[in-house]
Amino acid sequence: MSRGALYREEAVVLRTYKLGEADRIIVLLTPGRGKVRAVAKGVRKTKSKFGSRLEPTSHIAVQLYEGRDLDIVTQAETIDQFRTVRADLDRIARASAMLETADQLAQEGEVNPRLYTMLVGALRTLDGSSSPLVVPAFFWKVLALEGYRPQVDACVLCGAEDVSLVAFDVESGGLLCRSCRRGTAVSPEAVALLQMILGGRLNDALAVPSSPATHEIDHLATHAVEHHLERRLRSVTVLDRH
Ligand SMILES: [Zn+2]
Repeated sequence: MSRGALYREEAVVLRTYKLGEADRIIVLLTPGRGKVRAVAKGVRKTKSKFGSRLEPTSHIAVQLYEGRDLDIVTQAETIDQFRTVRADLDRIARASAMLETADQLAQEGEVNPRLYTMLVGALRTLDGSSSPLVVPAFFWKVLALEGYRPQVDACVLCGAEDVSLVAFDVESGGLLCRSCRRGTAVSPEAVALLQMILGGRLNDALAVPSSPATHEIDHLATHAVEHHLERRLRSVTVLDRH
């Protein structure tokens, strides 16, 4: 496509930052172009034509103009309001954790429509459900998408299937039996939840009320995502040196 063309995309606003006196840079996740950094001109003026449509979590239909360095937002229409998320500080914090993770996983110039679909789905779920597992489930799903799908049906080290799985180790990549155990101890309830989330029974997991087991899953998921991102950041640094 030649420079200067107009194009339309759906997008989620991942984050924004100030540019000059009145403008903002908007970082978007789109299904067709991956992560896009664009300028929204005049967006910080009180009478901006964009209103509040270009805030983090906004799910929009957007029209952009291909600029020389950065694309320019020319139109934005709301697809999802996410009113419940925006009215609740706890949900805003949980949405932010997902936006930040998607932002770090998405690379500019790399199209990843499934990451986009997962993020929109998770934001919609967060808007309509009080499940404590929305964010952890999103983390496990994106890790699986990245190729890091933990082994949760058998011991990841010895392969034993008909034994109790009692620990989770992020380095080993899954659950472990009593003889192989290392990493973090996990309860039988947390093992069951992990198997639901990664075994195609996400809705069953989302119906489970808050409990010590949902907290365990939350901690494990956060740790696994941080571990994955850190390892990837390190590998990028190593590549850059060559
Ligand atoms: Zn084992």
